[in-house]
Amino acid sequence: MFLLCILPSVYIVYMPYWCMSLTMATDTRKRVALVTGGGSGIGRATAVRFAELGYSCVVADIDEPSAKETLGMLQTPGLAVQVDVTMATSVEAMVTAAVQHLGRIDCAFNCAGIESAPAKTADQQEDEFDRVMGVNAKGVWLCLKYEIAQMLQQEPVVSDPAKWADKPDVCRFRGARGSIVNASSLAGLVPLAYTSPYCASKFAVLGLTKTAAVEYAKDGIRVNAVCPGPVATPMADRVLELSPPDLRAKQDPKLFPVGRFAAPEEVAEAVCWLCSDACPFTTGEHLKISGGI
Ligand code: NAD
Repeated sequence: MFLLCILPSVYIVYMPYWCMSLTMATDTRKRVALVTGGGSGIGRATAVRFAELGYSCVVADIDEPSAKETLGMLQTPGLAVQVDVTMATSVEAMVTAAVQHLGRIDCAFNCAGIESAPAKTADQQEDEFDRVMGVNAKGVWLCLKYEIAQMLQQEPVVSDPAKWADKPDVCRFRGARGSIVNASSLAGLVPLAYTSPYCASKFAVLGLTKTAAVEYAKDGIRVNAVCPGPVATPMADRVLELSPPDLRAKQDPKLFPVGRFAAPEEVAEAVCWLCSDACPFTTGEHLKISGGI
């Protein structure tokens, strides 16, 4: 059923359209979603959800085998790309590969991220600050830069044009060249002790999100962010393992209003909603997904 085309660092899976459900075959149009950090945790769950909704997916990650593994879980045509979001040439190549193979980028979820080693500010190391800011802040900035440049070249697509025909202004806002969601964190809204590089990077993601949103609103490009609380992923496991006892105690799920960590699929659902035509007037926002924290 699958035809696997192997190109340098780019893997494509084509699934014949007759394999897809009738709902998908009659979907309004084929859309393309790109997910960085798609090889694990929240990024993987979001790629899977995009595919369930009928999007073709570009799964991008620095860890190539994990990106290919995610690609193998998808039911729609897709592409796995190795990318290091800290490098402009790598991010540009990711966008080029996506457009070459899938035609355009309707949605992008900039999810690649790393945690910082737990230490109070005076004990943090300069190279650790640079490393975390490099992936979490510069990485999001580079993705925005190249994704937006691509989206500006795309024809806007108006969903439900007949419904909005007598409201040209609304129709213009609904005309989407693209929608981008960035992964911030609750730590991008409130301080989280022992994580100053991570906190700084996630506050930065909100600044980048809101700036790009106002710059490109009139071009039909929406930019939003999600701020998840604790989510059960490999990153959360690593953080818990390395945290000092007082920090680990604060992560006890019993202390959270809902009494548990989020599943990555619960964040994925919110990301796909923000990307969708369900919220065409929502841009420059951050959505807290915290189970009430
Ligand atoms: P994860 O570690 O499970 O996945 C992160 C992915 O990013 C990995 O596949 C990794 O290979 C990839 N990655 C790392 N550096 C990269 C680089 N330079 N270029 C490309 N890819 C790279 O983590 P997760 O928990 O799924 O986190 C995803 C995002 O959500 C991160 O930005 C994280 O900060 C954020 N977040 C996570 C939580 C949580 O509790 N897990 C909470 C709030 C926000």
